[in-house]
Amino acid sequence: MPFTKGGNFLSLEDIKKITNIGAGTMGHAITLQFALKGYPVNLLDMTEEALKNGLEKIESDLRTYVKAGIITKNEIPAIMARISITTDYPDALTGADFVIESVVESMDVKKMIWQKIENLVKPQTILATNTSGLSPTEIAQYLNKPERFLVAHFYNPAHLMPLVEVVPAQKTDPNVVQTTIDLMNHIGKHAVALKKEAPGLCRE
Ligand code: NAD
Repeated sequence: MPFTKGGNFLSLEDIKKITNIGAGTMGHAITLQFALKGYPVNLLDMTEEALKNGLEKIESDLRTYVKAGIITKNEIPAIMARISITTDYPDALTGADFVIESVVESMDVKKMIWQKIENLVKPQTILATNTSGLSPTEIAQYLNKPERFLVAHFYNPAHLMPLVEVVPAQKTDPNVVQTTIDLMNHIGKHAVALKKEAPGLCRE
């Protein structure tokens, strides 16, 4: 029972705190999706400059939402206040229930980052990568608890595109897949569960 809580896997109601690793094209917009729904999000990147750029992009996305009538200007401060930025992994990951990673598409980098993340989160935290083409089963090979690792693949631009593909790796527990689908739908995305991964991109 490596990641149970009270005998159960984390379900949607247990997810209170999000950590997003990577503040680039995908990461900033994914962060916004969670903050918009009311979740506190820790956003981590390597440098203060990358984080500053990420926040500027989030503010720009919010202005787009205002123009489209999705939110009012008055809502922006509260949404931004839910986002905490940091370059420090322990700071970013303390208390995280769901971690999503959107760093560069490199197996070496993702392997290094996921091993670091796994050592800092609680046992039941769900771990999701936004990789487009790398094998989640290969990334999971470097983890102690591959059962809680999967793909949550957003589309670009993630603040506008509803589709999120949820893709299990070979050892992902079905409960983790279900909670991730529930969470994606809860934040207003349209989650599609794929049966298995395939080289290049994941397929039904
Ligand atoms: P990006 O280059 O815009 O952003 C990557 C971010 O990761 C950068 O801010 C960089 O500073 C940060 N980063 C790099 N190494 C890091 C480290 N060691 N620790 C913390 N942060 C680090 O890339 P992107 O387009 O956002 O893509 C990110 C992931 O999302 C990739 O896996 C990619 O395949 C996937 N993806 C991309 C798209 C797309 O259209 N761009 C769509 C879906 C999925």
